[in-house]
Amino acid sequence: MPHAVTLIPGDGTGPEITEATRRVLEATGVQFDWDVRQAGAEMLEKYGAVLPDEVIESIKRTKVGLKGPITTPVGKGQRSANVTLRKRLDLYANLRPAKTYQGLRSRYENIDLIIVRENTEDLYAGIEFQRGTPEQEEILEIIARTTGHRLDPNSAMSMKYISVAATRRIVKFAFEYARANSRRKVTAVHKANIMRLSDGLFLATAHEVAKEYPDIQYEDRIVDNMCMQLVQKPELYDVLVLPNLYGDIISDLSAGLIGGLGVAPGANIGSQYAVFEPVHGSAPKYAGQNKVNPMAMMFSGVMMLRHLCERDAASRLEKALTQVIAEGKNVTYDLKPRPDDPTAVGTSQVADAVIEKLQRF
Ligand code: NAD
Repeated sequence: MPHAVTLIPGDGTGPEITEATRRVLEATGVQFDWDVRQAGAEMLEKYGAVLPDEVIESIKRTKVGLKGPITTPVGKGQRSANVTLRKRLDLYANLRPAKTYQGLRSRYENIDLIIVRENTEDLYAGIEFQRGTPEQEEILEIIARTTGHRLDPNSAMSMKYISVAATRRIVKFAFEYARANSRRKVTAVHKANIMRLSDGLFLATAHEVAKEYPDIQYEDRIVDNMCMQLVQKPELYDVLVLPNLYGDIISDLSAGLIGGLGVAPGANIGSQYAVFEPVHGSAPKYAGQNKVNPMAMMFSGVMMLRHLCERDAASRLEKALTQVIAEGKNVTYDLKPRPDDPTAVGTSQVADAVIEKLQRF
């Protein structure tokens, strides 16, 4: 039986890397029944939303999505399609591995980190108040009455919201992942010294959950210190669990440790559905140029194959990718010693090289 998967090419460079990824996935011999669904800025005119309902309905049917990046217009008041997708399908865990492979140009060796980012709450909950609206005035009134703080009405607000239930389930996810994948340690990351209530609740809940997993080491770190530690001694860390905003930032930092966004995969996982996508965005300035690296999306495809219990195909695709990286020949500009290296190949040529490797084993 082919695996039914919702394929969302996205926009910007999304369609190119999605096509390259679809080709390598099919070359593993696994059968897919793709349900291709469009999302992104162009859908706004047609459907009045960057994420049409039919995309959500498709994933509810197939249970699995593979997604290219989608552009979010900055400061236009339009909600991000990515955030909406994660919220509507309750994809509460964002799993972002950061691993060095031989041949990647990185300042570090032997990085093997797993970032577990909470995906539904925190400053990304989408609870915002526009300057000069009656809603914002009401909120300012409530704040003045309950805290004594009179805030400047010429301001906008985004609410940081952290619950016990969502924290429990993300920290449990991190520990369960650690246990299932023979990882040694979970580190909870927070800023509870300043945001004593919201991050304080995250930290206290993480401590409680950690007691249920005595077989796994547990510690916590303040997020600013964590950034420095990751740059200085990343080998000390293993699985990190973080609220949404810190998780977003630290996963890009971790992608930088392993040689860039071009090879950083991700998965958004909930109790019923899972959507796999690269960490990077739509890199719109390179759209239509057959230029950017499709490997982050291909590694996301490896994660998807494992999720679909296609372990052998996942290992073969991972091996093919690591061989292409190690050889350093058929790779895009970002994996070359210099970005203007004339020997850099395009997105679709990377797919050709990976398929050629796959055909050998
Ligand atoms: P970006 O990740 O798109 O690009 C930043 C830079 O990183 C690019 O200019 C390019 O130099 C490099 N880069 C990114 N992907 C690459 C690849 N595959 N190969 C080689 N180089 C690559 O980040 P941005 O410019 O901040 O965001 C562009 C848009 O994407 C924004 O609208 C943002 O909201 C959106 N975005 C979407 C997602 C998603 O769909 N999940 C994630 C992040 C950003």
